[in-house]
Amino acid sequence: MNLSPDLAGPLSLSAPTLDHIAVRTAELGEGLAIGRALPTRQRRMVGAWCFLDHLGPVDLSGSQGMHVGAHPHTGLQTFTWMLEGQILHRDSLGSEQVIRPGQVHLMTAGRGIAHTEDSLPGASRLHAAQLWIALPPDCAEVAPAFDHYPHLPAWTQDGVCCTLLAGAFAGHVAPTRLYSPLVGLDLASAQAGQTVLALEPGFEYALLPLEGRVHIGGEAFDARTLAYLGTGRASLGLGLEAGSRCLLLGGTPWEVPITMWWNFVGPSRASIAQAQADWAAGSPRFGPVPGGEDRRLAAPPWPWGSAR
Ligand code: MN
Repeated sequence: MNLSPDLAGPLSLSAPTLDHIAVRTAELGEGLAIGRALPTRQRRMVGAWCFLDHLGPVDLSGSQGMHVGAHPHTGLQTFTWMLEGQILHRDSLGSEQVIRPGQVHLMTAGRGIAHTEDSLPGASRLHAAQLWIALPPDCAEVAPAFDHYPHLPAWTQDGVCCTLLAGAFAGHVAPTRLYSPLVGLDLASAQAGQTVLALEPGFEYALLPLEGRVHIGGEAFDARTLAYLGTGRASLGLGLEAGSRCLLLGGTPWEVPITMWWNFVGPSRASIAQAQADWAAGSPRFGPVPGGEDRRLAAPPWPWGSAR
């Protein structure tokens, strides 16, 4: 296909950042492989986005399905964008909600929440992006909440179907509950095409391909590689091959150090150790998940010796 050059940064003296970050394969349990794009050794976060998992597409028929037992979170929001199949979410607030394709689930852990995730009986295909958003220090202890977003702003530009999952873009505003400036945009194209996206130069961005191949500045990316775009771009020229889909994720560069371990985000190892101890002790900080208490997940061994 004939692609226009990257239109970013006509006034910049150096070429804009375009880093290739290999998506590694991780295990979600029960043989369900996922692609993990962040965190990596070379890059921890993109804005507040601190964990990028790509689940599937996978055929669950003939398997036990996906069943993630009760586990806790702190200091972050879990963000699920569903492309194929359905997942039942239950949490310690009493929420019970099925997510379907085209919908977002956003669970704000704040000071503490626990949840389960299960594919439905008889489910076949499953395809989703499961992402985490770090909460800024002054919001890390907010009350936990769960939000289901069945309808999101959607439009077509240059034949590319755009769905705004979080933040504001091109005059659209997503209803998603956020605590720091960020954006999440799904781009899908049935036909081969190209488009130019207006970006916020103060944001840093990355592009996560979910299906097919997309082209940036003459380079091709598929689901095995996250394209890290850096900051300072006012626009991004994007080529999409037929049947491709990707996520544009961005936000204000994160400047406060955070600690991430297991399912916890916090300002320090001490805060993570406290969360781990509270979960192990069955503290009311997390609360029971209806239908999930018989399958509580235990934290893995503490990684930092006795320095806690
Ligand atoms: Mn979780």
